[in-house]
Amino acid sequence: MVEKVQAAVRTGPSRTEFREFPMPDIPEDSALLKMEVAGICGTDVKLYAHPPTQSPVIMGHENIGTIAKGGREFTRRKGFKEGDLVFVEHYVMCGQCEWCHLGQYRHCENTDWRKNPDAIRYGYTSAEKAPHLWGGFAQYVYLPWNAVVHYVPKGVTPELAGLVTPMANGVEWSLFDGGVGYNSTVLIQGPGQQGLSQTVICKQAGASRIIVTGTSKDAARMKVAKELGADYVIDVQKEDPLARIREITGGRGVDVALDCTAGAGTMPILLGVDALKRKGGTIVVQGEMKEFPNFPLEKVTTHTFGLKDVDLAIRSVGGQGDRR
Ligand SMILES: [Zn+2]
Ligand SMILES: [Zn+2]
Repeated sequence: MVEKVQAAVRTGPSRTEFREFPMPDIPEDSALLKMEVAGICGTDVKLYAHPPTQSPVIMGHENIGTIAKGGREFTRRKGFKEGDLVFVEHYVMCGQCEWCHLGQYRHCENTDWRKNPDAIRYGYTSAEKAPHLWGGFAQYVYLPWNAVVHYVPKGVTPELAGLVTPMANGVEWSLFDGGVGYNSTVLIQGPGQQGLSQTVICKQAGASRIIVTGTSKDAARMKVAKELGADYVIDVQKEDPLARIREITGGRGVDVALDCTAGAGTMPILLGVDALKRKGGTIVVQGEMKEFPNFPLEKVTTHTFGLKDVDLAIRSVGGQGDRR
């Protein structure tokens, strides 16, 4: 009898079914990962409630596991052998395109599930695509030759290693994108795993004032935020966050605002913009929204004139001429 692999499959909005898949054959250049820990982040919450596709999907994109079976070529090329504890990035790149050559394989077409129906990305790719095991909420995950795999250092447990994605985002968003450093004032919105990771990173980088916002249901997480280095926590349902941020910063605003919220709509972005210092502040937005609702671009252009009306057009912009 062929061995089966159990997986939790998203089959519709907020619906999970347990399904069995055949244990895949592992070619020489591939490997099989036995799952240990799959992290869950805000993106999972959103895509579980509102799946971007009708296809059944094994979710789970922050995956730690042990190499259960490693093809000879896989081991020779990548250096991993059976029994190694590893972290697998969710991007599966082509290794040939311009983005891959730049080292920016996260932009590779081969992993862009939004545009490419054949793309492979752990936690996003359809379970109908053979060999089916493309997500961490399963007993095993399939690793083709182009999976991006990292060693988990000795002494780090799979549970701790599971934090690698939010921690890596913490470094990238706050230090590289936001420029947080010595004496920075930072607003971190949302005290989830992501926001808490940013708090640790910003503290380590020397930020002098870290403000973390959350809602009333986040009370326990806000306590953790303080333990991890937040100087101030604000419950946005109990106090006016903008007034409080102004008070904390002496009216100056923050150097960097980091959006780590999930499903909070545009409110955090608007607050982030308002809370920034007026000159040289940086806001880092997750950019997962399809559109920014109520952004009145079409209202910005109020008049259109033809060539013969150039004189009228200039006078109208100056407040004379056409006063509509
Ligand atoms: Zn994630
Ligand atoms: Zn590529």
